[in-house]
Amino acid sequence: MKLSDIGEFGLINRFAKQFSNFGASNTLGIGDDCAILPLNENESYIVSTDLLIEDIHFLRNKITPFELGYKSLAVNLSDIAAMGGQPQFSFLSIAIPKDVEVEYLDQFIEGYHQLSSKYNTNLMGGDTTKSVDRLAINVLVVGKIENNKIKLRSDAQTNDIICVTGNLGDSAGGLQILLDQLPVNQKSKQLLDAHHLPEPRIKEGLFLSQFKGVHAMMDISDGIASDLRHILNASKQSATIELQSLPTSEVLQQLAKEHYWDITQMATSGGEDYELILTIDSNYFEGIAPKFYQRFQKPLYKIGTITEGMPKISWTNNGKKIETNQSGFNHFKS
Ligand code: ADP
Ligand code: MG
Repeated sequence: MKLSDIGEFGLINRFAKQFSNFGASNTLGIGDDCAILPLNENESYIVSTDLLIEDIHFLRNKITPFELGYKSLAVNLSDIAAMGGQPQFSFLSIAIPKDVEVEYLDQFIEGYHQLSSKYNTNLMGGDTTKSVDRLAINVLVVGKIENNKIKLRSDAQTNDIICVTGNLGDSAGGLQILLDQLPVNQKSKQLLDAHHLPEPRIKEGLFLSQFKGVHAMMDISDGIASDLRHILNASKQSATIELQSLPTSEVLQQLAKEHYWDITQMATSGGEDYELILTIDSNYFEGIAPKFYQRFQKPLYKIGTITEGMPKISWTNNGKKIETNQSGFNHFKS
């Protein structure tokens, strides 16, 4: 059997099945943004890990070492944000090919350190080894959270309002600029920065975690078309997304027009936005949204509704149903 027959998530399920009877009480294993390990009666550690491989996740000649160090930690911290947790520690493992020089690695760790400082996250260990020709980076992060504030993918409820914390598609636009070798100017730089220096939404996650009315939450790493499906599968719910409500930046709108990019595709399936997607009890949305605005000077964007039924996303545009085959970025599946 080929890996492409079952895909990334088919493989993870195949692995997870072997361990289904290991569950220790109060722990949560495979399936959410972080694993949950109880710390004491009221708090837990949350743990997540991500791998970045040269030529799969980044092109070494297109990203600076500073950006690569920053991004390696950022994509991991994003999973801590997704649960509503506070980052605490990180571990960094790195496989280094011969042509990578010490000065490159100095700049790499400068980027990693800058973001670590911002969120007071200490580097506690890791592993260092040789690699044949590609640079490979693995980061593991540990966060802390009060048990009654944990936001899971499995808590979406019928009639919840689906929200995102910021613009979608900028990172995909940045990738397109790199791939098409478009000139770097003030506008395109904004999209390149979204792609190379994503901001983990730690503060937003912590803020939202205090509200009981916030039900399910996760971070957008693969695009909402794929990531929302994880919430729907875990919560056994369906959803309607209003394409006209998806927030996109002015710069992305301008460049998409100029270069004939499919902005809807970018906003739904581009991936690597690292904004949060969450579902809020419809009775609480009107109370929470202004508080979010007051705290962050940006709206909590309403993009759709959770509905009853089989896990499936219905897409509408100004009330009209849209047929689509957008499925998000899934490793191994063509
Ligand atoms: P995210 O995009 O939030 O980082 P992933 O889609 O990578 O999450 O992973 C989904 C879930 O599967 C997570 O709970 C993750 O820990 C788990 N997972 C991924 N790969 C493996 C693996 N090789 N072995 C065990 N669990 C895995
Ligand atoms: Mg995640």
